[in-house]
Amino acid sequence: MTETRREQFQALRGMRDILPPESARRRELTKQFFTQCELAGYHEVVPPILEDLGVFLRVGEATDVVTKEMYDFVDKDQSRIALRPEMTAGVVRAFVQHRPVLPWKVWYAGTNFRHERPQKGRYRMFDQLGVEALGVDDADLDVEIIALASRFFASLGLRQVTLLINSLGEHEDREQYTEAVRLYLLAHQYELSEASQVTLELNPLRVLDSKRREDQQIIADAPLVADYLSEDSADHYARVLAGLDSLGVSYTEDPRLVRGLDYYRRTTFEFAAEALDSAQNAIGGGGRYDGLAEAMGGPATDGVGFALGVDRILLACDAEGVFATDPTRLDVFVIDTVSGDAARDITHQLRSAGISADRRFGGGSMKAQMKSADKSGARFAVIIGEDELAANEVTLRPMLGQESDGEQRRVATADLLSELSRYSSQTVTDQIDFQPADSASADPTNSGTLT
Ligand code: AMP
Repeated sequence: MTETRREQFQALRGMRDILPPESARRRELTKQFFTQCELAGYHEVVPPILEDLGVFLRVGEATDVVTKEMYDFVDKDQSRIALRPEMTAGVVRAFVQHRPVLPWKVWYAGTNFRHERPQKGRYRMFDQLGVEALGVDDADLDVEIIALASRFFASLGLRQVTLLINSLGEHEDREQYTEAVRLYLLAHQYELSEASQVTLELNPLRVLDSKRREDQQIIADAPLVADYLSEDSADHYARVLAGLDSLGVSYTEDPRLVRGLDYYRRTTFEFAAEALDSAQNAIGGGGRYDGLAEAMGGPATDGVGFALGVDRILLACDAEGVFATDPTRLDVFVIDTVSGDAARDITHQLRSAGISADRRFGGGSMKAQMKSADKSGARFAVIIGEDELAANEVTLRPMLGQESDGEQRRVATADLLSELSRYSSQTVTDQIDFQPADSASADPTNSGTLT
């Protein structure tokens, strides 16, 4: 006989399977985030993962994210589309399309795709959490979203997160500043790394983002944006800092913080996790933007927002030893050494009453089933053997170390829910209605119920 060997597939490079229990931890992280968002009046927006390529081109034609890393392709109808590399563009496109009432305060949680060189904390498919607030030009809104992010980090137990902040000024301030940086960098062109020489031609400000060693001294002596701020911009920035002071949100001013995307103005900020390696320690960032809604064909609209990277936040939590995975908590493990009918029906009824319940399939001895119950981490085992079945009872056994007042005891099957509800905050009024198959068939009033 010839054996055919089938190819075994692996997830694509830079893409990962998120398995339990890590998946539960990520879900809990998102829950913490949206709790903070909803507390501040932000509601969820869910834009599509695919957009017209043009939506992302508007965001920043000189950025690596758009020029090099985007998963773009020609669709079956010949239109050019792309998997989103970030979420702001899609959210602003949705804003322009639907023209909601202002201010529009939204949060999102979603997957993005960038064809990057994968490494720890940098993947080709990754999740971001973020907020956008459109339609208000008020420094207090900048403070509001920064404080929201900071409460979110605190809710996870993170303590070593630094907020870096800067102001890029208005469009005109930024133009003048960009020109000053361009002239300065041109004078030092040949001392720059090759990559930065290319960036200089496309977008001089982005050279200041370079992490390459040979660029650092030149960057350190470059002109400062603070010297180019108009009075309005300087006032806005001062109010943001005063607001953060008032709320006790600490920050470090970083005059070199420009962030890559072209549409940022005024406030710009980044969160760095000090517990992570400096190359991947950016756990999020954001700022004020204008011109984006206009670029998408809408009215000129102020906007401010941030995006946080889920993977990096979890790495930061690991590094600080906080927000540990909480093992999924199981209330009851049902052990049935008779026919399996009780396990089948009682798990269903427990679950219907909001009590988590599991069992072992394929029967097995009392010992084997007890072992499964131990492994499951359940608070209680509910045991049904021949004896219990005959008496319409179950044995309720608190599992080792779980409940203090607990010797095992027999309880009437019908009283199981109310017995269990003594241990939970839930009020359970239902009764378990389990009858062994024989007695059910003998009792016509029971037909069609859980027997
Ligand atoms: P950005 O949209 O580039 O400003 O990214 C915002 C945040 O998303 C960053 O601070 C990272 O935490 C996260 N992030 C960006 N790119 C990736 C990636 N390729 N893999 C994982 N996280 C990422």
